[in-house]
Amino acid sequence: MSVNVSCACGAAYNLKDEYAGSRLGCPRCGAAILVPALPPAPPVRFQAGDTAFAQDKFLLNERHFGISEKYAVLDKEGASLMFVERPNYIFLNVLAIFGGVIAGIINLIASGVLSHLVKVLGLDPLLGVLLTLWAKLGSFFVAIAAAQALSKRRHITVYRDDSREEVLLRIAQDSNIQLLTASYTVTGADGGRLALIYKKRLRNIFRKRWYVLGPDGPLCTAQEDSIILSALRRMVLGFLGLLHTDFMIYSPGGQVLGEFSRRMTLRDRYVLDMTPDSRRSLDRRVALAFGVLLDTGENR
Ligand SMILES: [Zn+2]
Repeated sequence: MSVNVSCACGAAYNLKDEYAGSRLGCPRCGAAILVPALPPAPPVRFQAGDTAFAQDKFLLNERHFGISEKYAVLDKEGASLMFVERPNYIFLNVLAIFGGVIAGIINLIASGVLSHLVKVLGLDPLLGVLLTLWAKLGSFFVAIAAAQALSKRRHITVYRDDSREEVLLRIAQDSNIQLLTASYTVTGADGGRLALIYKKRLRNIFRKRWYVLGPDGPLCTAQEDSIILSALRRMVLGFLGLLHTDFMIYSPGGQVLGEFSRRMTLRDRYVLDMTPDSRRSLDRRVALAFGVLLDTGENR
């Protein structure tokens, strides 16, 4: 920023901030010029909830032990802020997959029997063709939908620390079935609903995008950082695990609010950097929930 000031003699000056509010001598006529003070900086939004959320930068340190996904959340100096857990019900979910496969097989057999009946009874042959098609393609979707319906939802909880005594934030998986849309509801420690975070799977095939909806409308979106890297990740590099997905976070107006990065140099340590949103227009509880989902809700 700079300060514009003009002297009575007509000379105009564009001065650095540090001269704001001071008295200078005009270099042209020598008269005293009073440089106006800077307008007050826009106020930083009050961060509701626990003071641990009053940060612009969060480090998410993934912990590899046990079968659940766990993260230690640290501040930019590396001090512990919170603990995040997303349980993984491996045994129950293997059962769910098994149930899905059975449902798929039942669909396969049932539509096979029906298409045979159509032939025997001499009904419209088109019906038989459709049934054969459904047996082949539909059984796959039935299997996935049934497995998802039977699976246990994986709600995420943010705790004060790894003693898990005090809950600071909850991120609930809204539905078992997430074929087209995966959505999560964020609630504060008091149970108040803060946001709905979701992605549309078909849209994500080419470039990943997530949406955050507050009680009064859209809060922000996140988009995979570059279309070229998006393409590369879906080809060789992604399979080799060489390129992690980074997201840019935008306000509804398209301004950059922050960034979620999983750089190779920071293996298993992800950074949610909301520094561009210095006024904290985005509630940091929602921002943190978003960061956790951009990792855990993405690749698994
Ligand atoms: Zn002057």
